Amino acid sequence: MSKIPEMFGMYVFNDKKMKERLPKSTYKALKKTIQDGEPLDLSVANVVAAAMKDWAIEMGCTHYTHWFQPMTGVTAEKHDSFIQPDGDGVLMEFSGKELIKGEPDASSFPSGGIRATFEARGYTTWDPTSPAFIRDGSLYIPTAFCSYTGEVLDKKTPLLRSMERISSEAVKILHLLGRTDVTRVITTVGPEQEYFLIDRELYDQREDLIFTGRTLFGAKAPKGQELDDHYFGAIKTRVAAYMRDLDEELWKLGVLAKTKHNEVAPSQHELAPIFTTSNIANDHNELTMEIMKKTAEKHGLVCLLHEKPFAGVNGSGKHNNWSLSTNTGENLLSPGKHPEDNLQFQIFLAAVVKAVDEYQDLLRATVASAGNDHRLGAHEAPPAIMSVYLGDDLGEMVESIINGEEYVSHGKERMLTGVDVLADFKKDTSDRNRTSPFAFTGNKFEFRALGSALNIGCPNYMLNTMVAEQLSQFYVELKDAENMDKAVRSLVKNVLSEHHRIIFNGDNYTEEWAEEAKRRGLLNLKSLPEAFSHFMDRKNVELFVKNKIVTESEYRARYEIELETYCKQLNIEALTMIDMARKKITPAVTAFIKEMTDAALAKKALSADIPTSVEEGLVKSLSNKLVCFVKMTAELEDAVMNARAHREDCLAYATYFREVVFAKMQELRAVGDSMETETASEYWPYPSYSELLFGVE
Ligand code: ADP
Ligand code: MG
Repeated sequence: MSKIPEMFGMYVFNDKKMKERLPKSTYKALKKTIQDGEPLDLSVANVVAAAMKDWAIEMGCTHYTHWFQPMTGVTAEKHDSFIQPDGDGVLMEFSGKELIKGEPDASSFPSGGIRATFEARGYTTWDPTSPAFIRDGSLYIPTAFCSYTGEVLDKKTPLLRSMERISSEAVKILHLLGRTDVTRVITTVGPEQEYFLIDRELYDQREDLIFTGRTLFGAKAPKGQELDDHYFGAIKTRVAAYMRDLDEELWKLGVLAKTKHNEVAPSQHELAPIFTTSNIANDHNELTMEIMKKTAEKHGLVCLLHEKPFAGVNGSGKHNNWSLSTNTGENLLSPGKHPEDNLQFQIFLAAVVKAVDEYQDLLRATVASAGNDHRLGAHEAPPAIMSVYLGDDLGEMVESIINGEEYVSHGKERMLTGVDVLADFKKDTSDRNRTSPFAFTGNKFEFRALGSALNIGCPNYMLNTMVAEQLSQFYVELKDAENMDKAVRSLVKNVLSEHHRIIFNGDNYTEEWAEEAKRRGLLNLKSLPEAFSHFMDRKNVELFVKNKIVTESEYRARYEIELETYCKQLNIEALTMIDMARKKITPAVTAFIKEMTDAALAKKALSADIPTSVEEGLVKSLSNKLVCFVKMTAELEDAVMNARAHREDCLAYATYFREVVFAKMQELRAVGDSMETETASEYWPYPSYSELLFGVE
């Protein structure tokens, strides 16, 4: 174990290695780029590239790859070897130009119509703020991805832009407050990642898991999560070995993997890293998901990152813990001992509250996916209604600001009794708090509506931009104030009064909240097509265009890609279901019916006195269900065929998939699952939920 500090980051070209391997002046120039965002010189890049290559070759690398995050939501890579012809032989070369710029073909990545196949050129550009690393004999260079004509084609570029945007707006506000020591503000993120682990052999028998990542059929196991015995429970041997291996792989790659535990559903687990700068957190989360899958292979397991692999037990999410910190090391969302007097905290709090209220539709859309539709509002994850949880103390402080009353902190009182401290602590980790989609948790906000498979780039660039926008409005309002203290107090009071409706400290799972939220005028966008129905609203387009995060056409492209992806995923799910129904389930049930029929006939032939009611009952019940099942399979097929008629408009197309295709899938599944409960397991063609969820020892 003492080896871990040496092992940590061994595959990363990190600060320590740069310092050791780069000439002082190069190191300094590179640090300036990383820390202050200054442009990078080609001469510097040449020296860095040579040093990176030498290190990579020492570590056994033969190739390098630009690593990027196209709109597919997963990472992409194309490997080039270092070889350069030299007489009869080769040299191992890597230039600054190759480090800075790559040229993958852009035409095969989703671009929402802004790229035609004949304009295939795309560029990847090195993001020097995220360190290069080594995997499987290649040097990985984190990059941003854009087209020949400069259109943004990835999830990374808007994130990097939004980080700069929020930094400059936050610094302006801090300077107004007299904090001229601050020159840069960094957004920090700690994503908690949930996942399922199941046995590889069982996985291989289910085409639904293979093609769609979730089970499309499957009757509930007799036991689910009702005993709460899995959550934080003792970790099984095979899972523990997997987790240990996973941690080590991540540490070698410089990922700050910190916490691991069992989650609520059987076979469900979580990994949380220590938070870091947003773009690095984004890269690390992508890496974490990839390494989770890779490591599972080594252990005869499969890691499922789908948001809802199994019906009837909790699905998987990702909590995006988010905060702002200054280059002087201060967390701007830290309330301090006296938040009532901490104007700096209050102004940033007000900016977040206003942002979430004004852009609740966007926040909802940014976490929308076919998989996450199964979770939001299903009483296992926050509802589709966005609101902000502040907790009792901060909630009361906000009330007193709005009402112009003096706020008396309860902090001390509770500390004295001791019992209240326990009560307070419990409240923080209880279900009530966990039901909120956007919760203040001490010194950060926790955006909890993300799905487990989501690339966190998108929610973070949106969040950063909407908060930056508020800060820029605040700046305009405050900049000429004669009495800054008074002006800030009045601004905070006005903002909190105006956006009070978005604050909710109660249980988000209740029906009463849905009704109350409706009265407050909050949106309740239940599915992806609904969530995207506001995406192109003028205020949303303008937010990104004004803040120069993406252009209008790039923004529209994102809208189209998300809706298209949703339709494609549902289409694959429907086709997989039809295939399973026709090729496996129907024949299996028919065979079992035959077996029961033969048994009844044999009994009858033996003697008229032997009861055959059990066999006959099953034959009758299953035959009726099978008729229904086959009919519904045909109906689902028709629904999929008819989808084409709605292709013209991508929102209408997605809505059709949700309302018609998905509804048919649900119906078909219900009958299929009911047949499963009546069919002998040796006949049923797929591993059951019991085996899948309780199969890993
Ligand atoms: P929980 O009760 O949700 O487990 P933790 O305190 O363990 O809360 O934190 C969860 C995540 O929040 C971790 O990844 C942690 O590093 C991250 N986190 C803590 N402080 C910050 C911060 N200032 N900014 C962003 N993330 C943070
Ligand atoms: Mg959490």
